[in-house]
Amino acid sequence: MTETTVCIIGAGPAGAAAALQLAQWGIHSVIVDKAFFPRDKVCGDGLSGKVITALNRIDPAIAERLQQYTEKVNSWGVTFVSPGRISMDVPYKPQYDPRSEPPIGFVCKRIHFDQFLVDEIKRRPEIRLIQGVSIDQYLPEKDGYLLSEAGGSLQIRTKMVIVANGAHSSFTRHIAGFTMEPDHHAAGVRAYYKNVTGMHTDNFIELHFQKSLLPGYLWIFPLPNGEANVGLDMISSAVKKKKVNLKQLLQTTIQQDPVLKERFREASAISPVEGYGLPLGSKRRQLHGDRYLLTGDAAYLIDPFTGEGIGNALYTGRMAAEHAAAAIRSGDFSAAALAPYTEHVYRVLGAELSLSHRLQKLVRYRWLFNFMMKMGTRNKQLRELISCMFYEVDVRKKLTSPVFYLKVLLNR
Ligand SMILES: Cc1cc2nc3c(=O)[nH]c(=O)nc-3n(C[C@H](O)[C@H](O)[C@H](O)COP(=O)(O)OP(=O)(O)OC[C@H]3O[C@@H](n4cnc5c(N)ncnc54)[C@H](O)[C@@H]3O)c2cc1C
Repeated sequence: MTETTVCIIGAGPAGAAAALQLAQWGIHSVIVDKAFFPRDKVCGDGLSGKVITALNRIDPAIAERLQQYTEKVNSWGVTFVSPGRISMDVPYKPQYDPRSEPPIGFVCKRIHFDQFLVDEIKRRPEIRLIQGVSIDQYLPEKDGYLLSEAGGSLQIRTKMVIVANGAHSSFTRHIAGFTMEPDHHAAGVRAYYKNVTGMHTDNFIELHFQKSLLPGYLWIFPLPNGEANVGLDMISSAVKKKKVNLKQLLQTTIQQDPVLKERFREASAISPVEGYGLPLGSKRRQLHGDRYLLTGDAAYLIDPFTGEGIGNALYTGRMAAEHAAAAIRSGDFSAAALAPYTEHVYRVLGAELSLSHRLQKLVRYRWLFNFMMKMGTRNKQLRELISCMFYEVDVRKKLTSPVFYLKVLLNR
């Protein structure tokens, strides 16, 4: 029997952020993961600016160590390819110089990035990491939870739980009562390739919105050693309605698309195509309850437009640590005492999530997308505006307003 005040289930980005932030404040925790690290996680491996921001808030030394980490590539922007095959390069910052400034984005295989976080956990004496144990039973007790694996050989008695065990969390389904809603959920597949040609010299990530893939898109993200993460995702309601086999769609697109088949001519797959779910944050939910807080994918918080969830996992892991610390101080772990956590999450991420939801819907209007891209390739101001949208929510808001399109039209 292990006893603790805070037990964190899952040592991915959300759980690691929670444990590291608590440790930073001198609070001890136990973090349990069913896997042994290094472990893989099906993902696009794209790390946005939020990752460095979140790590920097926990401890600038961690962010600095990630900047120095060699298992990643620095990425300076995004190439969008519209359904009409118009291609537009959008840097993360309107002006940038890869030689003189730190990058905003990275691409890093999750097997390496999550190991980086676990190595940070191992540096901290306040954190006890237990690997290879799946927590499958959650028994509420008078003053906490009794957590155990199915076989019951390990038991953890804790005053509160930070739930960080990802998209398929049984705690989220059985205790918090969330259900998978196909309109607020996406399915994704990815494979690793070697020798894909035509990559951007500054490692821009590529998003291809081909007609045959809508409302989904295909991505190609550059990795170290000439490798690339290549994948596809689509909202689950559309997968069901269109009866799409995403693994097959990825392979036929690469083999048959006139542009991509040239770029993949010399390429070879170095992994199987694997799939996983993306619970989207396009709906507000209650993220707390008696003695628990939900974080990251276990809180269904993936950006509905970009499919990005690592940044939100780190953000909410850190916020959960803040509210766990307050509960420890007051000795009150009730749902009422933890309610400010849900408010906090949506105060920080809510505007962005709902704008992304609106953008996700806009992509369905193929003509509008083509039009925007056509304008963007001709209009420097518009390109710069889209650039800014990566780090300024207010700018992103403009893209969902009809007045904005009218102005672009009048300024052609
Ligand atoms: C195809 C695809 C592409 C994506 N691309 C991107 C991208 O490019 N950029 C981006 O930012 N996001 C992307 N995402 C989303 C991103 O992968 C997630 O948002 C992110 O992993 C969430 O982190 P997390 O810590 O909440 O969960 P996870 O990373 O899933 O970590 C959960 C941890 O909990 C452990 N666990 C699970 N069950 C138990 C249990 N019962 N007991 C103990 N431990 C348990 C697991 O082993 C795991 O280590 C993508 C997702 C998919 C599916």
